[in-house]
Amino acid sequence: MFESLSDRLDSAFKNLKGEGKITDLNVAATVKEIRRALVDADVNYKIAKEFTDTVREKATGEKVITAISPSQLMVKIVKDELVSLMGGEATELNAKGAPAVILIAGLQGSGKTTFSGKLANYLKKQKKLSPLLVAADVYRPAAMEQLRVLGEQIGVDVHLELENKNPVEIAQNAIREARAKNKNVVIIDTAGRLAVDEAMMTEVANIKSAVNPTEILFVVDSMTGQDAVNTAKAFNDRLDFSGVVLTKLDGDTRGGAALSIKYTVEKPIKFVSSGEKLDTLDVFYPERMAQRILGMGDITTLVEKAQAQFDEEQAKKLEKKIRKNQFDFADFKQQLEQIKKMGNIKDLLAMIPGVGKAIKDIDISDDAFKGIEAIINSMTLHERANPDVIDSSRRKRIAKGSGKDISEVNAFMKQFEQMREMMKMMNKMPMGGKMMPGMR
Ligand code: GDP
Repeated sequence: MFESLSDRLDSAFKNLKGEGKITDLNVAATVKEIRRALVDADVNYKIAKEFTDTVREKATGEKVITAISPSQLMVKIVKDELVSLMGGEATELNAKGAPAVILIAGLQGSGKTTFSGKLANYLKKQKKLSPLLVAADVYRPAAMEQLRVLGEQIGVDVHLELENKNPVEIAQNAIREARAKNKNVVIIDTAGRLAVDEAMMTEVANIKSAVNPTEILFVVDSMTGQDAVNTAKAFNDRLDFSGVVLTKLDGDTRGGAALSIKYTVEKPIKFVSSGEKLDTLDVFYPERMAQRILGMGDITTLVEKAQAQFDEEQAKKLEKKIRKNQFDFADFKQQLEQIKKMGNIKDLLAMIPGVGKAIKDIDISDDAFKGIEAIINSMTLHERANPDVIDSSRRKRIAKGSGKDISEVNAFMKQFEQMREMMKMMNKMPMGGKMMPGMR
């Protein structure tokens, strides 16, 4: 995400390395590079100019603090300005109401339907609400079917009226259904068009005036850069939406949309979505995004993702097994599954400060675990629970079953053994390997 922008900013800061203090001259060169980097990331020129003017003003106005080098000072100023450009504080979604009504609008293909599913899943899991999804795209039966399937996957009811061609009526009926079934939040997925078009706007505006939404979220594909910003403006002029959702941040996004939308429409980005997995929706935090752009990682999000997948009961059971030296292949497999649920592996690693840059050219796909999983899947349940019984003839069978070479199976078995040895050693350490009070 935003790799090229991150690199360019980094090299702009390097200009100041070795400089004793900030001068009009060295700051001018740095600021110019920052401006170019922003424009190349598809940030509107006017915004980029205003941004760098502020940065210059702040940098030259700072008192010389000997403890901080000019390049560190510049990073700090740019970070603060990025945070402010993206909206400062995070803005919560308002999902209060009986029911709360959330209208989802945007162009076709922007990711509305996928986001509707993710949002329902998020509200159900994180906010313990009971959502109802509504398919109000009456033009594309496939869109209705897509929402039905999503609802099934996440265990959320979907209001469908296949024969009804009136989206306003569908929305109203859905709200009635929600009241009757005690659902507390209704998510209406509306129809989009390929480009901004009057009929589409009128339709969404009509739904808006009929259902009086608690929130109107405008969904936009972040890969479309300046177009995203222009589309946002058109939708906002007509709908006066309450927040923006940026999708497809997992793609080759340069950053223009994320950096310019708030400035242009004066509405906060509320969520960012990367990937098609239904549990990869993130609340948008300007501070964390700025840190990621500047290659500082995002440990807070990483920890939150881990916590969201953390299962107390399972963890206790696992701890007991480790204490008794009984960690086996079934546990290993369960751990892998938990990590995978947290999202794309490369994105996760990039949240660790400094790691993103180091691994940016390395291909780490989610398939990385596939080989290991295939090997474990080829073991019998007895073998998984009793790793010691796996002798060479069993290894041959496992290699065949998993389509792996025997050397790969042997290497994996060896790694697993080393891991178990390490766990044993930890158990023998004073306090059972706990480095700090309360540590597992
Ligand atoms: P809609 O027409 O606005 O409802 O868009 P869809 O939800 O059907 O999404 C359009 C396409 O983009 C589908 O192929 C989705 O799987 C894909 N998509 C949606 N969100 C994301 C995302 O965050 N990342 C990626 N890579 N693809 C996405």
